[in-house]
Amino acid sequence: MKDPDCIFCKIIAGELPSTTIYQDETLTAFRDINPVAPTHILIVPNKHITSNNSFQPEDEAIPGKMFTLVRQLAEQEGIAENGYRLIMNTGPHGGQEVQHMHLHLIGGKKMKYPMG
Ligand code: 5GP
Ligand code: ZN
Repeated sequence: MKDPDCIFCKIIAGELPSTTIYQDETLTAFRDINPVAPTHILIVPNKHITSNNSFQPEDEAIPGKMFTLVRQLAEQEGIAENGYRLIMNTGPHGGQEVQHMHLHLIGGKKMKYPMG
């Protein structure tokens, strides 16, 4: 399921350039174009889900796979031991700018909560 106007759908399909570091039948992970820390990866479902507000029971396997991938990528990036932050922005008040559900994996520096 793909939205022709969605930049993340285009990245998933390889129609827009990105630093993609992982892809399987469910998920794609690529580096954020505007990183806020030494490691800033976006993990997205290949299926176009606009936000958590559109999340359906049939999608319930996706977050489980996302968390397994987070652990793998954190190890690969060398940030597992010192830790990292996971963010999923939803809607205008959540600061969501791209309307394709995504999980930010941010690490490589010490952060304070909240970011603002
Ligand atoms: P949001 O605010 O929706 O949670 O985060 C969207 C993120 O997507 C931002 O951190 C932004 O830098 C990133 N982003 C926006 N457009 C692109 C793009 O074309 N390529 C990549 N790799 N990241 C993007
Ligand atoms: Zn999309």
